[in-house]
Amino acid sequence: MEKILTFRDLGLTEKTLKPLEKKGFEQPSPIQALTIPALLNGEKDIIGQAQTGTGKTAAFSLPILEKIEKSTGHVQAIILAPTRELAVQVAEEMNSLAHGRKLKIIPVYGGQSLEQQKRQLNKGVDIVVGTPGRVMDLMNRQVLKLNNIDYFILDEADEMLNMGFVEDIEHILTQTNEDKRMLFFSATMPAEILKIAKSHMREHEVLAVKKKELTTNLTEQIYFEVKEKDKFEALCRIIDIELDFYGIVFCRTKNDVNELVGKLQDRGYDVEGLHGDISQNHREVTLRRFKNKNLNILIATDVAARGIDVNDLTHVINYAIPQEAESYVHRIGRTGRAGKQGTAITFITPSEYRKLLQIQRITKTEIKKEQVPGVKDVIL
Ligand code: ADP
Ligand code: MG
Repeated sequence: MEKILTFRDLGLTEKTLKPLEKKGFEQPSPIQALTIPALLNGEKDIIGQAQTGTGKTAAFSLPILEKIEKSTGHVQAIILAPTRELAVQVAEEMNSLAHGRKLKIIPVYGGQSLEQQKRQLNKGVDIVVGTPGRVMDLMNRQVLKLNNIDYFILDEADEMLNMGFVEDIEHILTQTNEDKRMLFFSATMPAEILKIAKSHMREHEVLAVKKKELTTNLTEQIYFEVKEKDKFEALCRIIDIELDFYGIVFCRTKNDVNELVGKLQDRGYDVEGLHGDISQNHREVTLRRFKNKNLNILIATDVAARGIDVNDLTHVINYAIPQEAESYVHRIGRTGRAGKQGTAITFITPSEYRKLLQIQRITKTEIKKEQVPGVKDVIL
C-alpha cells in the first residue's frame, strides 16, 4: 500500500506544522511535495510550475518560514506579485502560516499610504510582499532595502510578464545582493520566464507538476445559447434558482462590468464590481465582503479576478465568452476548488459557437448544452 505523504515527511518542523494543522491543511499538494524538500535541503534556485489553485503560495511560503529562524532587523525575503489583491492575499496566507511566531510580514502596494508603509518598514519587517511599482518606489526612497535578502520570489511570474513588469523586476534585481536564493512560481511557463531565469538565476532546477487535464473534473461545465439582449434575464434566473448562489460573473470590459452591476442593483441584487478603475479602497472592501460571504455576487473582468483565491464558489458565469481558452481555464479555476463541486456556465450568442468548440478542443473537456431555466423553475 502506498504511504500517504505528510508535511512532516517533507522536512517541516513544529513551528510550521502547527499553523498548518490550524489551517486544516492535511496533505501537501503535488507542487508542495516537490518544492518544499528542494528548498529545505537543496541549494539551487527553483522554478515551480503548477496550474492555478494548486497551492503554490504555501509551496514557497512554508519552506521559507521554516528556514527563517527569527527577525534580524532587515528584510529577509521579498515576494513580488502582479496585483495589489494578490500581494494582500499572499501576505495574509504567509501570516497565517507564521501564526504564533514573531515575524513581521507585510504587503506593500500602490494606493496605500506611503507614510504608513514607511513607519512599518522603519520598525523592521522580515518579509515584504509587494507589487513591483511600489517596491521600486520604496527602494528609491531608501525606505526599503533589499541588499541583504535571503530569498527573492516572483509569484504568478507569467502574469507579471503579461502585465509588462519585466523591466521593473530587472531593476529591482540590480539592487539586491548576489547571494540570494531565487524562486519563480507560475501557472504556465512561457519562454521569457526561462530567459529571465537564465540571465539572473544561479544554477536552477525546474519543478513542474504536469497537468493531467487542463480543467478540474469537479467543475460541471455547461453553456447556454442566448441572444445578447436576453443575457440579463438569463443571469437573473440562474441567480434566483440557486438558493446559495456564490459566484463570479465575468464580463469582457470595465464598462460591461459597470453596466451589469447597475442593472442588477436596480433589480435589488446585492452585487459589486471588481476592475482596475475602481478605487483600491473599494476593491479591498468588496473582496473582503465577498470572501466573508457577506456578498455573494461579484461582477469582474479577467484581470481583476486573476488569482483571487476564494475556495468554494458555487458558480462561475461567463457573461461573455472569453477570447482565449487560457482565460476560460483561469476563470473556471475559481470553482470546483478544494474538493468542492461547482458549476461553470458560459453564455454564447449563436455566432460564438465556433469559439466554444475551440475552447473545448484546447481544454480537452466537454461543455454541455443546457436550456436557460424558465421563469417557472425559479423558486420564489
Ligand atoms: P495557486 O497559487 O497555485 O493558484 P493558492 O496558493 O492560491 O494556489 O492555493 C489555493 C487554495 O488552496 C488556497 O485557499 C490555499 O489555502 C489552499 N491550499 C493550499 N495548499 C493546501 C493544502 N495542502 N491542503 C489544503 N488546502 C490547501
Ligand atoms: Mg498563486
